[in-house]
Amino acid sequence: MKEDLIGAAHADATATAPSGPVTDKKPGGGNVIPFQRYNEFGSRWPVPGEAEILVVPLGGLGRIGMNWTLYGHAGAWILVDAGISFPDEGHEGVDAIVPDPGFLAPIQDRLLGLVITHAHEDHIGAIDRLWPHALNAPIWATPFALGMISRRLAEQDTLDAVTLNRFDVGSSFSIGPFAIETVRLTHSVPEPVALAVTTTAGTVLHTGDWKFDPEPMIGQPTDFDKLRRIGDAGVLAMLCDSTNAHKDLPVTSEGQVRQAFQKLFATRKGQIAICCFATNVARVASAAVAAVGAGRKVALAGRSMRNSEAVARSLGLLEGVPEFLSEPSHLRGLDRKEVAMICTGGQGEERAALARLARGDRRFPSFGAGDTVVISARVIPGNEEAVDKVVSQLRARGVEVLMGHELMGGMPLHVSGHPGANELRELYALVRPRFALPVHGTEMHLTAHARLARAAGCEAALVTEEAELIRLSPAGARVMGRVDAPLLHLQSDENGDRVPYRPQIALA
Ligand SMILES: [Zn+2]
Ligand SMILES: [Zn+2]
Repeated sequence: MKEDLIGAAHADATATAPSGPVTDKKPGGGNVIPFQRYNEFGSRWPVPGEAEILVVPLGGLGRIGMNWTLYGHAGAWILVDAGISFPDEGHEGVDAIVPDPGFLAPIQDRLLGLVITHAHEDHIGAIDRLWPHALNAPIWATPFALGMISRRLAEQDTLDAVTLNRFDVGSSFSIGPFAIETVRLTHSVPEPVALAVTTTAGTVLHTGDWKFDPEPMIGQPTDFDKLRRIGDAGVLAMLCDSTNAHKDLPVTSEGQVRQAFQKLFATRKGQIAICCFATNVARVASAAVAAVGAGRKVALAGRSMRNSEAVARSLGLLEGVPEFLSEPSHLRGLDRKEVAMICTGGQGEERAALARLARGDRRFPSFGAGDTVVISARVIPGNEEAVDKVVSQLRARGVEVLMGHELMGGMPLHVSGHPGANELRELYALVRPRFALPVHGTEMHLTAHARLARAAGCEAALVTEEAELIRLSPAGARVMGRVDAPLLHLQSDENGDRVPYRPQIALA
């Protein structure tokens, strides 16, 4: 314990085994310790000891987005994911929100790496904006995530200045005192992995985003055997996705969405555009296969769509999916029943392809009566107004607009990539962690998840806040204090392009 510099005055309290209510931040009940406040940019960062794992969730709690989690052990730190959050209303011109990397400066030389769970913006979106000028720890990612990150860094001309390490799904590697096993999951992007981080103080399972998709269309279903094996070996704590923790959901899969698309193309005679997230390669493949099967030509619209396609093709993830037309404008002049487009913009983004299509941009085929647009996504809270605007414009042109919650031939046009309460219970039964730290959700989601974790047999479930410092050890799990972690509001340029952040003082 002598390495534990969190504060000697509190050292004795840390040994108290947690008990008590589900969502109590200080599970010691009567042993509530005063919060230690780590000074802004200060020298008070604790040096993690060998008998503990320190966890600092810098984002993703009480909000959706900006997933960053620091793990500290035996004098070293690693970061899991570095995503962005999208601004609320009232932040005009702000393109992304990230933790201010300046506050990590005191531990910069002990930050040994960044490990990525999957290629979604809320997990990787900060990298090209902050690396290498504001942070420069080496990065570990799967081939698909690494491909997406590399393209972004190349656009900023910083690819050569960042150290990138590639790991395959299911492989293991070590970073300093952290032994990391990766576990194949399913989500709404290729190659999502959970990370089992093992130290001499125990194992933490960091799930990232996941669901149990029996038919993911790209990649294999979840590696249940490995999750059980990791559970058998003993898991001290699990940090797990809370997005849908408040409700039971039916088992859904990308395979069902493919059937819905096939039904759609079989029953519509006009032009069809399917709008989904560019990184949902399985969804893009399903739309393409269904369209080509119905005798249509397919074009992709949107730069992120073409980036994602290029990475997926280079890795062989789109085998069996024919090449797309190089430009949506090449669809013009075809018979309407031969036209299919796959595009971005399902969140109503003004500059994205769907909004341009709705405005009648000449680069796209002209959509009107008899044509169909499917928004194969969930509208993220906060984007409803923007989506309504685009949908109204399309409907005013006579276009039939189908939303993600609608069914086609009894099959869903969109499925969530996150686990419902029933899938969470299944995961807890496999992993059996002693402590639960729900992440990736608003307070309502985190609280529902904590309750579920306790009912599933966890000794304690901690609902924590961003920037709180949690100490995990065989002796217990406890919130020790918080670090002052200011946020940066980043703006894009007038073309909507991302602008990297350069701190006043560059790194040595
Ligand atoms: Zn996420
Ligand atoms: Zn995700």
